[in-house]
Amino acid sequence: MKVPFLDLGTAHQEVREEMEEALSRVLKSGWYILGKEVEAFEEEFAAYCGTKYCVGVANGLDALHLILRAYGLASGDEVIVPSNTYIATWLAVSHAGARPVPVEPDARTFNIDPARIEEAVSPRTKAIIPVHLYGQPADMDPILALAEKRGLRVIEDSAQAHGATYNGRRTGGLGHAAGFSFYPGKNLGALGDGGAVTTNDGELADKVRVLRNYGSRVKYYNEVRGFNSRLDEMQAALLRVKLRRLDDWNERRREIASIYIGEMSGSPELVLPVTPAWADPVWHLFVVRHFRRDHLQNRLAEQGIGTLIHYPVPPHLSEAYGDMWCDTGPLPIAEAMSSSVLSLPMGPHMGFDQARVVSAAVRRECEELAVDRRLSI
Ligand SMILES: *Cc1c(COP(=O)(O)O)cnc(C)c1O
Repeated sequence: MKVPFLDLGTAHQEVREEMEEALSRVLKSGWYILGKEVEAFEEEFAAYCGTKYCVGVANGLDALHLILRAYGLASGDEVIVPSNTYIATWLAVSHAGARPVPVEPDARTFNIDPARIEEAVSPRTKAIIPVHLYGQPADMDPILALAEKRGLRVIEDSAQAHGATYNGRRTGGLGHAAGFSFYPGKNLGALGDGGAVTTNDGELADKVRVLRNYGSRVKYYNEVRGFNSRLDEMQAALLRVKLRRLDDWNERRREIASIYIGEMSGSPELVLPVTPAWADPVWHLFVVRHFRRDHLQNRLAEQGIGTLIHYPVPPHLSEAYGDMWCDTGPLPIAEAMSSSVLSLPMGPHMGFDQARVVSAAVRRECEELAVDRRLSI
């Protein structure tokens, strides 16, 4: 049985008629940028996240970048970011003119370790961006307490965690503001790029609204040097259809995750994801760790099982940040993650039988690798 890493086509088949109806509604409307669909989606997504405001933007990177711009970050400012995130978190900080300051994760949860943040705070620190990596909420309470004490903003990178909860509260409304991505492969994905900012801060929402549209409130009257970063009507109409399915689809991801955990626990030398009591993750990715990851990945590929690596190069070792390495020095946890993490197939349209096939294959390979290791000693 072949198991693809993610099958978006099947997901869209389930809502095909509603999506086609949404597309033809937009087509017929004759209005394609900043109209009724975006307004309706913003209202619906704010309600979903439990926030007062939502502002649609062009993508997740812009969502984070525009939040930082709206807060008025300037060159020389510092923003704390996880060392093991997708590079977009760092890029948003760099594009706002500030400097990303990496903090290592808790190796069990993959999320930024609150206990390590304070030593990274300097007089120039303005904000912390916890990432809810792989769909699991970061430990927000200690981060918010520290931010309060030091007068910092907390901006959630929620690009992988639509619908995840922390102590029963949805991500997107846990900090001062949050950035979401609707890249097609995300838990809530468009048929192209899209993103949103959620917040309870009316002034921030207003600033982001102006920044996303050339710095203007009234067409051709520009208050600030803004950007062109808008969620378009077509994507908003499609997202409204898929938002209605999000909870069901996240629930199916949870069922796949529980099969994986049940059937793979005890596999020799395999590290399974750990879910703390406060977290109800949405399993954007199901990430295991193994010290012979590349070998495991190849063996699974030979059996038709698709896997990916999130992420093979931590940002500080990427060419893009080559000039910064001497500042950050080695980040051993992020580096160990990048050489050991493996994302198994995951998605709302994966069959339970497929999850069992993947689990059995992983377990078998881990057992064989453990035997090889004992024989080689
Ligand atoms: C996807 C992603 C982003 C960026 O979103 P885009 O819409 O691709 O720009 C930012 N942060 C994280 C953690 C992501 O996974």
